[in-house]
Amino acid sequence: MRQRSMNSATFLLVFNFAIGAAFAVAFLGLTWRSGIALGRWCALGFLSASATVAVEGFGFLIPSVRAVSALSFGLLMLALTLIAAGLSRTFRPDASLVPLFVILAASAAFNALVVFDLPRGGWGQALGYQLPFAAMLGIAAAIVLGASRRRAIDLALAAILILSAAQFVAKAVLAGLAGSGPGVRDYLASTYAFYSQTAGGILSLLLGLTLFGLMMVEVIEAARLSLQRDGLSGLLNRGAFTERAVRALAASPPGARTSLILCDLDRFKGINDRFGHAAGDEAIRAFGERLRVALGPETLCGRIGGEEFCILLPACDAEAACARIEAIRALGQGARYALIPDDVAVTASFGIAVTDRSEPYDAALRRADLALYAAKAAGRDRFCLAAPGAPLTPPNRPSAAGSDGSSLRVRGAGRAGPA
Ligand code: GH3
Ligand code: MG
Ligand code: MG
Repeated sequence: MRQRSMNSATFLLVFNFAIGAAFAVAFLGLTWRSGIALGRWCALGFLSASATVAVEGFGFLIPSVRAVSALSFGLLMLALTLIAAGLSRTFRPDASLVPLFVILAASAAFNALVVFDLPRGGWGQALGYQLPFAAMLGIAAAIVLGASRRRAIDLALAAILILSAAQFVAKAVLAGLAGSGPGVRDYLASTYAFYSQTAGGILSLLLGLTLFGLMMVEVIEAARLSLQRDGLSGLLNRGAFTERAVRALAASPPGARTSLILCDLDRFKGINDRFGHAAGDEAIRAFGERLRVALGPETLCGRIGGEEFCILLPACDAEAACARIEAIRALGQGARYALIPDDVAVTASFGIAVTDRSEPYDAALRRADLALYAAKAAGRDRFCLAAPGAPLTPPNRPSAAGSDGSSLRVRGAGRAGPA
């Protein structure tokens, strides 16, 4: 009976070692291919957990029991700290990791210098040894639950972390009640070790699977986002822009004004023809960056064609839209390019349609497009405004800067709309 239980415990040690090592390899593979940093933290964490099991299995080869205890505690605590650090980087990228590693160092020192010398099998040693693990797992669960997003995978992960923390508390209580054997061999033989290793194995398997699931969700999300991006300008591509713009327009409050702006670079074919396609690409990239800087990273901007861009500005009337366009134009003035001579200005024309949720997106886009054509026809490097629902008339005046003080008639800008 004793022989069989020893075999079982040894088998479980090997099994737990294999789980840790297998997950470490899987996480490394995933992080290698995807660049998801959580994979690196978890790979190191599970490697460290495997090393803990190895120390527990081969500890009898190390003459100093204190060293075995310090090593096995330190490695398991390190494993949990690395996983908590990876989760912190994922869920709270701005948070410092220093507190986690301070807890690791303090608990490892406390274990080696104080807990080890407490009476073996007593409550002090049981709690002193197990509770730091529970605390680190609790911190990891708090990091996951503290994040603003709560996906199913996040909740599952938090639940496993809390269960694992509870398992360490249970271990402490069981060890305090029953006491564990005086040596590593006795530990391997004890029924307590059998159950504790089984529970630990199941939970580390579940933790590894949930972390792997979380990483898969992150990989899919990153791939989905990159599919929505245009590689050259970094803005949304046509499909993603349209989908989000339609959704944003539908979600706007009834009667709220939304500005839809179409932009098109002027005489762009000439830039390609004179300075090469790489120069044209540079201009497209620079214009995308200009939109991001002038409008902020949260504004819906897309590259919807070769050198055509679209912007959706919720809660934005014509006057505010003109001001935003002026900000974009101002950034373009005096812009320098590596492949385009300084005396060549890369300008754009803009068509604005002020709309609301009662107008279909396609109809608003059509009006913005007509306004853009009107701006082109009026001489380019200007914007043209189509009033909501009104029939479009050609721009009535490509006015000069400050000619009449109106915010709609600015340098190089014309205005279209009902007279
Ligand atoms: P307009 O002022 O009337 O808009 O004249 P334009 O020359 O800008 O207009 P046109 O539509 O004739 O030319 C657009 C050009 O943009 C044609 C195409 O070769 C070029 N183009 C489209 N996509 C890309 C791209 O990704 N990179 C580069 N370099 N050129 C592109
Ligand atoms: Mg063009
Ligand atoms: Mg074009």
